Amino acid sequence: MMTAPTLRDVYRARKTIAPYVNRTPLVSAPWLSAQIDGSVSLKLETVQDIGAFKIRGATNRLQQMSAAERECGVVAVSTGNHGRAVASAAQRLGISAVVCMSELVQPNKIDAIRALGAEVRIVGASQDDAEVEAMRLVREEQRIFVHPFDDPEVIAGQGTIGLELIEDMPDIDFVVAGLSGGGLLGGIALALKAICADIRVIGVTMERGAAMIESIKAGAPVTVTELPTLADSLGGGIGLDNRYTFELVRDLIDDLILVSEEQIVAAMRALYYQQRLVTEGGAAVGVAALMHGLIDGLIGRGACVISGANVDMQTFARIVDASGNESASTSHPSSIQ
Ligand SMILES: *Cc1c(COP(=O)(O)O)cnc(C)c1O
Repeated sequence: MMTAPTLRDVYRARKTIAPYVNRTPLVSAPWLSAQIDGSVSLKLETVQDIGAFKIRGATNRLQQMSAAERECGVVAVSTGNHGRAVASAAQRLGISAVVCMSELVQPNKIDAIRALGAEVRIVGASQDDAEVEAMRLVREEQRIFVHPFDDPEVIAGQGTIGLELIEDMPDIDFVVAGLSGGGLLGGIALALKAICADIRVIGVTMERGAAMIESIKAGAPVTVTELPTLADSLGGGIGLDNRYTFELVRDLIDDLILVSEEQIVAAMRALYYQQRLVTEGGAAVGVAALMHGLIDGLIGRGACVISGANVDMQTFARIVDASGNESASTSHPSSIQ
């Protein structure tokens, strides 16, 4: 598929990925609903086998490959959830996978991807060097490059979250989700807006390195300086040669919201203490925006996508264990899943 994805592609993706990907639960969150003028439920992508929603897009992309393409294998550049997703989908489908990373990657991330049966290739001192190696494998081994977001099949795969949301909450008024390259939010918006144009779609990202928001302000894809952030899975650019997600997000997203590192910490703590959920920073940004009242005029019933659980234990312990002086640590969980 070389044209922009449509609702039909999302329906097809749903059928394609069903045997391999969990249909995730939508759970109530009274403690969070109490903080807004309406009610919000949480869509738990944390329960996917790889701990994040990216398995949807990667599985759909690999499933749409021809027999000849499968024979050649795939290659991806990622240290995080995209690498896990491609490795896992390739393993399930019996396709050879190489994941390229730079020397800066932490050993536990290498192990996680190797454990899923992919070959890990460590090249150079930056993500750019890893990309050069991936492109070499495309040229010399004819491997298929799997993009983390700017690919119609990947976008359609992530969009299956939107179909599940409207089934579980037919009167849904709004959806809140994290935004980086825009595959997740673009896919969800595409599906929901095609079904009901009135559904409000809200994208949230961190202040430190918000490539999509800066690009939309500038009217075209721009690069931003990457800064260390708790929401590391939302890092990286949108690609100066972006083909699909920039326009999707620009045309379909109703609100773009920025959250601070402190607000992400508070959201991760609250998700743990109120709901007993382990989340990575990038998955907590929607809750951060909701609980700090950053979304103007929010009314009705909605959902917030909790996109992943892949946080290293040191970081997580530091966040949930920090002193006892925040109310979240002393309050009782109001709902048990
Ligand atoms: C990749 C990712 C996102 C953002 O998805 P995009 O399609 O790049 O916008 C959000 N949360 C988690 C946990 C992710 O891994």
